[in-house]
Amino acid sequence: MPNPQNQSEHYDLCIIGAGIGGLNALYVASQYLKPDQRIALVDRRDRVGGMWVDTYDYVRLHQPHPCFTTGDVKWTLGKKPSHLASKTEVLDHFQHCVNESRKGVGVTELLGHEMVEIEETDDVVRVTCRTNDRTLATITADHVINAAALDVDALQPLSLSSSQVRSVSPETCDVRTGEIASDNNPVWVIGSGKTGMDTAHTLITHQPGREVNLVAGTGSFFMSRDRMFPSGTKRWLGGVRPNYVLTEMADRFDGTNEVDVLNWMRDTYGTGPIPHAQHFFLGALSEGESTRIRDGLGQVVMDHLVDVVDHGEHGVQIHMRKGTPIDIAPGSWIVNCTSHFVSRARTEAPYVSAGGRVVTIGFKGMFGFTSFGGYFLTHLLYAGKLREVPLYEADGNAILSHSVPATVLGSLALTQYNLGLAFDHLPAKVFKDFGLDFDRLYPAPRRLVGQLKFLAGHKRKRERYRHALDTLGERFDVHVGPVIKTS
Ligand SMILES: Cc1cc2nc3c(=O)[nH]c(=O)nc-3n(C[C@H](O)[C@H](O)[C@H](O)COP(=O)(O)OP(=O)(O)OC[C@H]3O[C@@H](n4cnc5c(N)ncnc54)[C@H](O)[C@@H]3O)c2cc1C
Repeated sequence: MPNPQNQSEHYDLCIIGAGIGGLNALYVASQYLKPDQRIALVDRRDRVGGMWVDTYDYVRLHQPHPCFTTGDVKWTLGKKPSHLASKTEVLDHFQHCVNESRKGVGVTELLGHEMVEIEETDDVVRVTCRTNDRTLATITADHVINAAALDVDALQPLSLSSSQVRSVSPETCDVRTGEIASDNNPVWVIGSGKTGMDTAHTLITHQPGREVNLVAGTGSFFMSRDRMFPSGTKRWLGGVRPNYVLTEMADRFDGTNEVDVLNWMRDTYGTGPIPHAQHFFLGALSEGESTRIRDGLGQVVMDHLVDVVDHGEHGVQIHMRKGTPIDIAPGSWIVNCTSHFVSRARTEAPYVSAGGRVVTIGFKGMFGFTSFGGYFLTHLLYAGKLREVPLYEADGNAILSHSVPATVLGSLALTQYNLGLAFDHLPAKVFKDFGLDFDRLYPAPRRLVGQLKFLAGHKRKRERYRHALDTLGERFDVHVGPVIKTS
């Protein structure tokens, strides 16, 4: 490994961020570059894997694992597609993906390196990093792909006034083995998204009979995994393709009606333990998990926690944003499962810089999903088309600060719009090798139906998606539009 503290190493490509976005960029770049060319893979964490490195140990992938990969790299796990991969399995697969990329190109992992500045000149990009021992290191590269992406942090315990409850987070206290498992006091799970469901499900499974309560906010619902990712013969005859549902949601969105579209989704293809839930962040849950959680929960409170307060002889109370306070038992555990995706005020560069050497994959939601961004933007970069194709971008971070549902629907419309443009400018093989395709587990004839529909409709629908995105931008006074202006 080179010693960037002492010299400015030059690379053909520098990728910042070793999460699934950056690793997709790495895999695609390895298909274009030659074995004697070099890529620096920079991450402030000490190992490859992005947010999966620091997230709670009992997390499980919510989709079938073969669809969570880089390029078309196959998993080596040897388990059925329906197996929900554990954190360790996901991290092992990510390392396998890096090793696969190494077969095509030289890869230098610069881990424990935090990028602090990217400076583009006419002929090179200079990246300054701070290493774990606080020294500054500079590398140069022909191109930089900044896949720092959503940069999700591990959740911390909520800061609460009460001295009579234990406040923890999934990352600081494993609910299977941490201190929380050593007594039988009631648990209050705060937040009903994926982390809340993982936590409630794990608690209910590991300690049957323990009182587990949920403060659910407006409630989350999920895609029904059984319907979207069926196994065995149901893949031929039953189920509904995820791409069909996601496209249908994008098609129904007009830039203003996210509530109606999400209600349709919930009532038609959704599942979850909370009736009339309002919130959807593209998570998946099985009917079995949903039932187990619903049956195992004690109280479900449709409100937002503000604080937990000691209340003299009244004991301890949870103060809510809207409703009356709730008395809880002293000694209760409060587990913070509120959103990992809380908007941090951040500014983000356009997906391609004016000089064309720096690509940014992040919250502007280029392809909605950062993994899609890593894959398609890198193909466009190396195909020499990134500054030719007028892809749309939307400031997802700004939209998120106004409305989570609008962000989700906007990102689906954006994905459809940009996929259509990418399809018109990239070889068909790029789409054939796209391992992240949610329909991948369906038999070829069923996938073909979806592909033909996309082929027949993508140009026709383009104007509608653009109109929905422009409307969204005007509504929240947020930048939405193409980075590349065509005459
Ligand atoms: C609890 C939880 C569970 C999830 N479960 C699923 C799931 O089951 N399925 C699914 O599809 N998605 C899931 N997601 C969504 C998840 O965020 C994505 O799947 C994906 O892992 C995000 O990858 P990424 O590359 O965009 O970002 P990250 O994984 O956050 O990777 C970005 C990397 O950039 C690095 N970085 C950031 N800034 C710098 C800097 N300045 N210098 C150097 N490095 C930097 C970070 O250290 C990080 O390693 C989950 C998210 C959370 C929070």
